Amino acid sequence: MTQRPLVFATRNRGKLVELRELLPGIAVLSIDEAAAQLGRTIPDVVEDADTFVGNAIKKAREVSQITGYPALADDSGLEVDALGGAPGVFSARYASPLPSSVSGADHNDAANNTKLLGALAQVPPDKRTARFRSVLALADVAGRLGDQVITTEGTCEGVILDAPRGTGGFGYDPLFYSPELALTFAEAGIGTKSELSHRARAMRAMRPKLLAYLKTV
Ligand code: IMP
Repeated sequence: MTQRPLVFATRNRGKLVELRELLPGIAVLSIDEAAAQLGRTIPDVVEDADTFVGNAIKKAREVSQITGYPALADDSGLEVDALGGAPGVFSARYASPLPSSVSGADHNDAANNTKLLGALAQVPPDKRTARFRSVLALADVAGRLGDQVITTEGTCEGVILDAPRGTGGFGYDPLFYSPELALTFAEAGIGTKSELSHRARAMRAMRPKLLAYLKTV
């Protein structure tokens, strides 16, 4: 394993827990742990790209740049078909547009879910299809990757219920019903969610590339 630790470029606690679950056996620092280790503040990344991949690359690059370490970022969100793909890249700040400097702090989940239920109030069950999408990006600006960034993507199909179910997870999990699991993601618990979630699928594609890269740095 490298002398330069890997950093997860997120302050969203729900994502952090899942990313750690999805990378067993690999020591990874959170942004705040990296900041403490380096004795420096790490500002939030302004997520102003209009695609998941654009934001994921931006987060990974900036955190790698400021820490000097390889950084892995997740940009993700919910795409609801009846809403033309919204909230999409605005998933974290759907209910209350915050200053765009928030890099996934776990705020606003309840308000986002309430707004989503309102937007779908007249939409019948068979038209409430949706998917979660996750793009993972690995950057190592000071290392062998240089300007290059490795990205992978994963999706998970589901249906938006008309009332929340379950207490686990984060974000839209209580409203997102997975037909494959016959549970919402909030009912599933992290272990079951991590078998087929968008993030798990993106990580399944990223893991071999990440392990191969970390062997070389
Ligand atoms: P990001 O930090 O800009 O990538 O925002 C991601 C947002 O998408 C989160 O704040 C959630 O609202 C939503 N989201 C992404 N992944 C999940 C998930 O696994 N469960 C529930 N909500 C998610």
